[in-house]
Amino acid sequence: MSASTEEANAELSEDARLHVWIDQDLCTGDGLCVDGVPECFVMLEDGIAYVVEDGVALNDPGMAGSLALVPRGREDLVVQAAIICPGECIFIEATEGDTRTRLN
Ligand code: SF4
Repeated sequence: MSASTEEANAELSEDARLHVWIDQDLCTGDGLCVDGVPECFVMLEDGIAYVVEDGVALNDPGMAGSLALVPRGREDLVVQAAIICPGECIFIEATEGDTRTRLN
C-alpha cells in the first residue's frame, strides 16, 4: 500500500466501511495476514490465503469476486496487513453510501 493509500484511508468518514480481497495468484502462502488478523484472513488446504467474513472463508470464486466486509475495529489491522503483505496482493476498498473507492 502506498503513502497515498494511507492518506486516502485517513480521509474516510466514520461511516465508511472497508472491504478486503486477495489476489490468490500472487499470494506467497507465508500466512502473515492470518497471524495479524485471523478474523479476516485464513489459510486453506491449498496453502493460499483467503478473506473471511463472519467466520466464513470466501473462496468461491476468490480473487476480486470474494470481497469481505472488515469488522469495525479491525480496519487498521487489515490496512497494516496489506502494507506488509509480501505478495502485495491484499486489496482494500472503501464504501461510503453508493461510492466505492479502491485504496491500493
Ligand atoms: S500476507 Fe499476503 S502473501 Fe502472505 S499469506 Fe497473506 S495474502 Fe498471501
